[in-house]
Amino acid sequence: MPARDLMDIGPTTYVFSSRGCPYDCVFCASTRFFNRVRFFSAEYVVSEIEELVKNYPVKEIFFMDDLFIADKKRVFKIKELIKSKGLDKKVEFGASIRTNLLTEDIVSALKEMGIKFVTCGLESGNPESLKYLKGATVSVENNRRAVRLCNNAGIRVVGSFVIGHPTETKRAMMDTYNFIKKNKLHYADVYVLTPFPGTPIWDYAKKRGLVSDEMDWSRLKMDFRENFEKAIILSERLSRAQLRSMHRKFYRMLEMRRFIQRIREKLAIILQARGK
Ligand code: SF4
Repeated sequence: MPARDLMDIGPTTYVFSSRGCPYDCVFCASTRFFNRVRFFSAEYVVSEIEELVKNYPVKEIFFMDDLFIADKKRVFKIKELIKSKGLDKKVEFGASIRTNLLTEDIVSALKEMGIKFVTCGLESGNPESLKYLKGATVSVENNRRAVRLCNNAGIRVVGSFVIGHPTETKRAMMDTYNFIKKNKLHYADVYVLTPFPGTPIWDYAKKRGLVSDEMDWSRLKMDFRENFEKAIILSERLSRAQLRSMHRKFYRMLEMRRFIQRIREKLAIILQARGK
């Protein structure tokens, strides 16, 4: 068990139930930290949750795994144990998913165990870009379907997207823009492709002389709005200025969505209070 007594545990906390991911997305550094996937048993994971619920004021737990649903059988077992111990009534959960694995039975299991939101790298609304970033293991249709399944189950979807791979055109980026607009995501973030050491994208950037082992590492900071002057631009199609303008376009849309969402949430609170 982690020595949580050394930490300040509040209402929201984290559990690692596994390490690593069986997939190999071109930009992903986390699979370079863990060269194979390792899972805690369902029994152990649930014992950590029990300990948290018993000893701390925990109301929400996020499974910090790279891919919580990588082993489906284990997800079903965790769900069974959580329910049999009544933990689903005491705490809410969030977890990471990959949309090609999100079958209906997994969505039901996630809902039953008390998962309220999932995070996933949806990456792109353009089929070629998605293939470049994640290989042929997931499709735009998988992403669309997963968002729909989660929405139907009342599970919020937090999606992240990546623009600016070497051959990506403005038109392909607009497919992502339209995907975000048309699909009901609780929250979305858009990043510009960043070459982290150890990834295929790093090797590509190195061949082009864009990165080196002695570089200024702050150039890899992922907040493009803050770091756009120093960020490494991998695009062969768009200049830094054009990429910045595209990124701004995404953010204007995202900020507008967040604004509308906040208003809706406030209205819901007001209406609920009046109803009482
Ligand atoms: S699915 Fe997620 S964790 Fe796994 S390799 Fe891709 S980006 Fe990394």
